[in-house]
Amino acid sequence: MPAEDCNHNWTMTNVRGGYIVQEACYRCSSRRIYFSYEDNPPREKYREGEHIWSYFGSDQSVKFDLACSKCDKLVTFEELVGLMHCFGCTNTECNLYTLSQICQELDIWIYAALSHLPTTGEVAISLEKLSVLNKFFNDRLRSPGKKILILPSAFSSDPQRCYGEIIRDIGMLEMTEA
Ligand SMILES: [Zn+2]
Ligand SMILES: [Zn+2]
Ligand SMILES: [Zn+2]
Repeated sequence: MPAEDCNHNWTMTNVRGGYIVQEACYRCSSRRIYFSYEDNPPREKYREGEHIWSYFGSDQSVKFDLACSKCDKLVTFEELVGLMHCFGCTNTECNLYTLSQICQELDIWIYAALSHLPTTGEVAISLEKLSVLNKFFNDRLRSPGKKILILPSAFSSDPQRCYGEIIRDIGMLEMTEA
C-alpha cells in the first residue's frame, strides 16, 4: 500500500537504552543535552572552543524509532532523547506540572518529548513526528478513558531542574494508572 493512503499501524523498532546527559558551560552558562549509549559520560571539565563544559547530570532513558507494519514507512527520532512526566514541581513556572494538574482529572497523562539540545539551538521535534508519537502511545493504551498527550520539549527542556521522571522503558507508559 502506498504510504500516503495508509492508516499507519506504528510499531516500535531500533529500541536502544542509554542516558540523557546534560552539560553546562561555566563561562557563558550555555547548556546542552545529548544522548549517550554509555552509562559513564565524561565528568571532567573539558574545553571546546569558547566553552568549558562540565557535567550537570544524567538520567537513564530509551531511544526508538517507529515503523508502520502495513506500508513499511519508518519515522526516525534521532532528535528525541526521552519522554518526561512531571510529578510535582513546586515551582509554578513548570508548564509541564501545571498542565499535568489540569489534565489529571480528565485522565490525560502529560509528557514532554525532550529533544537533543546542541549549543547552536534546540533541534525541535516536528509536529508531524509528535503526532506520530501521540498516535502510537494512545493506540497502545488499554485503560478505557485514559489518554496520553506528548508535548514539545519547550514545555520542559530541563530534566534536572524539573521534579520529573524520565521514561526508562516503554512499558512504564501503560502502567501509569491514576
Ligand atoms: Zn503505513
Ligand atoms: Zn560557553
Ligand atoms: Zn516539572
